[in-house]
Amino acid sequence: MQIEKLKKILIENGEPKFRLSQIKKAIYQDGVSAFSEISTISKNLRELLEKEVEILSFEVEKVLASKDGLSLKALFKLVDGSRIESVLLSPIENKWSVCISSQVGCQLNCGFCATGKNGFQRNLTAEEISDQVLFWRQHLQKNFKFKISNLKLTNVVYMGMGEPFLNWDEVRKSLKDLTDKDLFAFGSRSISVSTAGIPDGIQKLAEEFPQINLAISLHFASDVKRNQFMPINKKYNLEELKMALRDYFSKTKRQVFIEYLMLSGINDSEEDAYALSTYLKSIGNRQLLHVNLIAYNETGNSFKASSGNKTHLFKNYLENGGLSVTIRKSLGQEVSGACGQLAGK
Ligand code: SAH
Repeated sequence: MQIEKLKKILIENGEPKFRLSQIKKAIYQDGVSAFSEISTISKNLRELLEKEVEILSFEVEKVLASKDGLSLKALFKLVDGSRIESVLLSPIENKWSVCISSQVGCQLNCGFCATGKNGFQRNLTAEEISDQVLFWRQHLQKNFKFKISNLKLTNVVYMGMGEPFLNWDEVRKSLKDLTDKDLFAFGSRSISVSTAGIPDGIQKLAEEFPQINLAISLHFASDVKRNQFMPINKKYNLEELKMALRDYFSKTKRQVFIEYLMLSGINDSEEDAYALSTYLKSIGNRQLLHVNLIAYNETGNSFKASSGNKTHLFKNYLENGGLSVTIRKSLGQEVSGACGQLAGK
């Protein structure tokens, strides 16, 4: 929302100081989607704000929902005409998790991911990033008004389009707003930032937001394979990533989530499990690593998801080596809102 503009208007109109907090609470915490709905402010002010201040920085073009209503995807049109997507998922009853984009498109071009296929257009502003959360808060408020328990937007993950650490300045501002007690008021531990492995970004997160969760999209534990499917590995290889993670642990002592996509015939053999186990153990702090084995969502390329059986064998192998592992069920496929399916269409 255009907070600076709102502040200016309130001052110009001689409104008392508490007015700003009152409006912020209504918008950011109560999920009000129009100034006209804020009954605690005068009619004149409501009308003025309605005319002058935009609450969302983009237009909502489409909202798709799965049949069970537990996965939703929204397509937003930004002021310059480009499009981004954001997803709302309910993995656990009464809990809603928002997956947000940090860039239009992506520079990384990982072989298996749909987002990079259309190239990179631009960074999102902090407002465009956090407004995705604001939109979903409004959506929940409008659609589940009578079921208060369903309103709880509990988590935010930076796992939509883009690489958050390649847009750090704006991502940082958005993290500040999401954790600001007068704005979104999320606890840091309810927010996760996912990266394909940019050491500099990992370091900044550790220094500036040590309580925010870090997820690493590892997917391959050999440089040969990772180079082949994740070009960023040619710039920052597994050894550099290891150093960055060691540094992260020494600064934060916090758990890190290792994301590992299960790709049939590519990274799901016993040899791959051995490579992963060896690599992760070589980082040290094994008790702080948690591996998520992720079912691949097909996106119209030649990659196939590993079978359930293969995935279980892989999990057992890692667990026998002393690692903690979860097989993540995949949500959002029905609305093409699953990880790696976001292409801004
Ligand atoms: N660039 C950041 C943020 C994007 S997160 C990162 O790489 O972490 C999106 C996650 O979905 C990443 O882990 C990505 O590797 C994964 N992903 C990409 N394509 C996928 C697909 N088709 N199915 C499941 N996950 C996919």
